[in-house]
Amino acid sequence: MALLTVEDLRVSFNTPDGVVQAVRGLSFAVDRGQTLAIVGESGSGKSVATQTITRLTPGAKVSGRAVFDGQDLLQASHDTLRHIRGDKIGMVFQDPLSSLHPYYRIGWQIVEMIHAHDRSMSRRAARARAAELLGLVGIPRPAERLDDYPHQFSGGMRQRVMIAMAMALNPELLIADEPTTALDVTVQAQVLQVMRNLQEEFGTAIILITHDLGVVADMADEVVVMYAGAAMEQAPRRDMFYHHHHPYTGGLLASLPTRGGQARLTPIPGSPPSLIQLPPGCPFAPRCAYAWDKCRTETPPLDPVFGDSAHRSACWLPHEDEQSRREGGEQHAAANAERNAVLFSTVDATELVDRESFGLPSTEDEQGKGIA
Ligand code: SF4
Repeated sequence: MALLTVEDLRVSFNTPDGVVQAVRGLSFAVDRGQTLAIVGESGSGKSVATQTITRLTPGAKVSGRAVFDGQDLLQASHDTLRHIRGDKIGMVFQDPLSSLHPYYRIGWQIVEMIHAHDRSMSRRAARARAAELLGLVGIPRPAERLDDYPHQFSGGMRQRVMIAMAMALNPELLIADEPTTALDVTVQAQVLQVMRNLQEEFGTAIILITHDLGVVADMADEVVVMYAGAAMEQAPRRDMFYHHHHPYTGGLLASLPTRGGQARLTPIPGSPPSLIQLPPGCPFAPRCAYAWDKCRTETPPLDPVFGDSAHRSACWLPHEDEQSRREGGEQHAAANAERNAVLFSTVDATELVDRESFGLPSTEDEQGKGIA
């Protein structure tokens, strides 16, 4: 059984302008020792979803289930939740400065956090544990650095402190929300390595929220691509990068910078829709080069792609079975393989979702005639 199973999660907020439908029917599962990445542009609902699972969205209207270790977190009492947060679920956020109090020493803050969850541990033992944790996340001379203030640590070191605090009680699940966004590339790699090491050592499951597909390629076992509050595509990492189906995923991949920075980026045109007034049909239709009449009136379900129930896509483009993918999708796969071979160098989006390999007429031929 999965460590965390989220089923049909829906989250909305009342605002003076109307009801914001922040998360719309999201379902996923994460196993022990596995990393699930949730990706998407800002405002896609990825952070709200995980904050709701840990009940950090006061005032939100919530429905669905989030079963963690056999218990539905959305129904749990506040006492139970307090126990689970920190003890069993650790959290790391993007900006460590907002999570660390500038007035208190690093060691004191870690010791307090340990004490809040384990009163039986002496302060001396908690301090020793704090030093051990700082060492685990790669802070040099950890025992000495316990007496430093947050401003005496670099951004990368502060983020490592946050990971140390999140891991202090060996949580079964770590939720990391854009943990490396504010860091330079070198420090980012170090922080990701720290998370990987801790996962290997403790078998921790990780939910990684990011807009950075390079980080996803590095870390994830499974990937959920979110757009306008809903999952557009869900797949194991390899399928997501080599055989993605949804044009939005293709757009995200095409937006990746190259390692050498020599190729052009292909941004996704337009911007996400208002979550107060979603367009009818597919929410991506106003930005999608492949949209036709049906897309603008009927919402595509998240259905298996290529006959594989682990790979799902919410798109009306044909969902071939494995046989037809082999026969008809070679060109599509080759374009992806070529891209991935140079680790995410940018190619034209039309190569990523190749109309011909899907048996569709070219954009020029279609000329708005509809291809339903
Ligand atoms: Fe594009 Fe239509 Fe697929 Fe939506 S359903 S992503 S508009 S092709």
